[in-house]
Amino acid sequence: MSDVEEGRAQHASAVLRFASLGSGSKGNATLVCDGETRVLVDCGFGMREAEKRLARFDLHPSQLDAILVSHEHGDHVRGVGALARRYRLPVYLTPGTMRSGRLGTLPHHHWVTPQQRFVINGLEIDPVTVPHDACEPVQFRFHAHGRSLGVLTDLGHPTAHVAEAFHGCDALVLECNHDVQMLAEGPYPASLKRRVGGDWGHLANVQAAALLPRLGLDRLQRIVCSHLSEHNNCPERVLDTLTPLLDGDDSRLSVAAQDHGLAWQRIA
Ligand SMILES: [Zn+2]
Ligand SMILES: [Zn+2]
Repeated sequence: MSDVEEGRAQHASAVLRFASLGSGSKGNATLVCDGETRVLVDCGFGMREAEKRLARFDLHPSQLDAILVSHEHGDHVRGVGALARRYRLPVYLTPGTMRSGRLGTLPHHHWVTPQQRFVINGLEIDPVTVPHDACEPVQFRFHAHGRSLGVLTDLGHPTAHVAEAFHGCDALVLECNHDVQMLAEGPYPASLKRRVGGDWGHLANVQAAALLPRLGLDRLQRIVCSHLSEHNNCPERVLDTLTPLLDGDDSRLSVAAQDHGLAWQRIA
């Protein structure tokens, strides 16, 4: 089924599904839909670019029920304020994210309290505190139709809390930001290397590989490797690192690209 047909079929089928409008340091946005409710997690693309990328899925911003914001870094919020104002979309975010001042005035917002489940129509969402260098960052776990999707990026290091909160997902969007060796040998200045590789920066491929078994590999139908660094990673290194965990079978793995994102993934 093409992305367009898949988009049209969404409201007809009661399946939890997700797609990426694009992922990486230049912008992140993830679509999550349970057949009734359609939300955008972050929007690191400017409004016009976001409109274009949504159109690839035959979607218009006015068809979104809400925007959820994980934290205030530009690659997650660049288009949030403009989209919310233009299309009067409610925004769900923590007070810390709002206090950063990066979103401007929002027409309609709801506070997210970390570790407290909230519901948008029937879609249940757990916001989970993560270690990352932002004001009050969270990542999200979704529940619908007896299935569960974790969206877990911008993670400085895998804490016990994160491992517990994302245990037993059926599908996972997981940060695989950098290859440790490529970061060390790459073009970033030393201070940025320390930030990216530090405990409040981003998750390395080997850290993602160490975390996955703690989340329960048996149940995971789809693992979408996300937020890959353009300069310090490549899909081949990610797949080489994660595939051995899956007994050499990479059919459950996909990579969300910066330019083209990733087509709809259904959680059966
Ligand atoms: Zn960030
Ligand atoms: Zn980011």
